Amino acid sequence: MRKNDADIIVVGAGIIGITCALALQSDGRRVLLLDRSGIAAEASRGNAGAFAFTDVEPLATPGILRKAPKWLIDPLGPLSLPIGYAPKLTPWLLRFWRSSWRDRFEAATRAQSALMQLSQTALENLIRETDAEPLFQRDGQLQVYAGAAQFEASRPGWALKQRHGIDVRLLDHADDIASIQPGLDARFTHAGYTPDWMNVCNPVTWATHLATAFQKAGGHIESFNVTDVDVQAGRVCVRSAAQTRVSDRVVIAGGAWSGRLAWQLGDRLPLDTERGYNTTLPAGAFDVKTHISFPNDGFVVSRIDGGVRVGGAVEFGGLKRPPNYRRADILLEKASRYLPGLRTEQGQRWMGFRPSMPDSLPVIGPARCSDRVIYCFGHGHLGLTQSSGTAQLVKAMVTDAVMPIDRSPYSPRRFSRWS
Ligand SMILES: Cc1cc2nc3c(=O)[nH]c(=O)nc-3n(C[C@H](O)[C@H](O)[C@H](O)COP(=O)(O)OP(=O)(O)OC[C@H]3O[C@@H](n4cnc5c(N)ncnc54)[C@H](O)[C@@H]3O)c2cc1C
Repeated sequence: MRKNDADIIVVGAGIIGITCALALQSDGRRVLLLDRSGIAAEASRGNAGAFAFTDVEPLATPGILRKAPKWLIDPLGPLSLPIGYAPKLTPWLLRFWRSSWRDRFEAATRAQSALMQLSQTALENLIRETDAEPLFQRDGQLQVYAGAAQFEASRPGWALKQRHGIDVRLLDHADDIASIQPGLDARFTHAGYTPDWMNVCNPVTWATHLATAFQKAGGHIESFNVTDVDVQAGRVCVRSAAQTRVSDRVVIAGGAWSGRLAWQLGDRLPLDTERGYNTTLPAGAFDVKTHISFPNDGFVVSRIDGGVRVGGAVEFGGLKRPPNYRRADILLEKASRYLPGLRTEQGQRWMGFRPSMPDSLPVIGPARCSDRVIYCFGHGHLGLTQSSGTAQLVKAMVTDAVMPIDRSPYSPRRFSRWS
């Protein structure tokens, strides 16, 4: 394929861009994938590796803003918002608050659930088509609670999952919990287990596996820092400081950095970033049998390449502030109390930028200026999980096929209706 022979350009080689590129290629399109930093260089590199298909509940739950001040008081707690960033985040927070109203929450839960089901089916197909079963761990997820009060408070969330057809097992006996994950501190007396949750051995291995499949089938990946995109005479021009690429269509999958490109195209979308932290410990640090979530402390423990990844937290603060790795250290300290046998030496710390919309739903749909430009970003905490379903939606939009699910909840236009 010569430089300007692509039918479609995908901007961003994170898990969303790579999965979309592969899906479009499977429909016979010549696809060029552009990224300034390489394959899965950002959020898709160091995440927890979970395909969290059972997480249908949006973050903006009814009453969430009553709980948030308690978390914000501790500057190193699971949620942080630097004072200097608060004015910039206010419009996003107002939309987040509006999303937590009962009507919006229920609509977002339905949309989340539909995208999860689509993604689960599409992922199974992708695993089969690319011979990737050895990369996956099908061990479910265990959410643990310190005492009956925490567990009782979590019951509405479990009931909501059950209403959406999710297999949920509620445990209130230490032996039952230990039979799934031995070695937890005795304070964890209650738990919920979701067997239909799966993990990949390492998210960057999965992204690289898909990128390799894309290249083997003739797809091109190019190092290219996109500075602007526009539509001229029925063609899309994608430019860097020195070069231009032209094609019939473009998919913008630049993760947390997509907002500026959308803005150039005339769409002001409320994309911000929830920065997250983790530490990856080498093999032998702990025998992790399942993905373990500590919902009251905002962190998770997962198995990565035989080692252990401890991570979570939400830090607002935009794309430019330097990381505060003390957050990763705090999570690790907590994890060592909750998993008394955990060996915390030789950890590698990491910070990633989750691309987050205030209603917890991604943006998947055409730009206002032209349906030759398709936005595909804002997957927040669930980009790995929802990547395969997202790619199916993008493919259906490009090929004018019947949409596998209702596309309207993910439309970029939903924000103009609110403003
Ligand atoms: C601590 C943490 C844990 C997480 N755990 C999970 C999990 O277990 N399961 C899950 O489903 N999700 C998880 N997530 C969320 C998930 O990582 C993200 O939702 C997902 O990786 C977003 O993928 P993306 O492709 O949209 O963005 P990214 O991976 O950030 O990729 C965007 C790409 O676009 C490129 N780019 C941007 N702008 C330009 C430009 N102008 N020109 C060229 N290239 C550009 C970047 O270089 C980058 O490679 C976690 C996130 C964090 C931070």
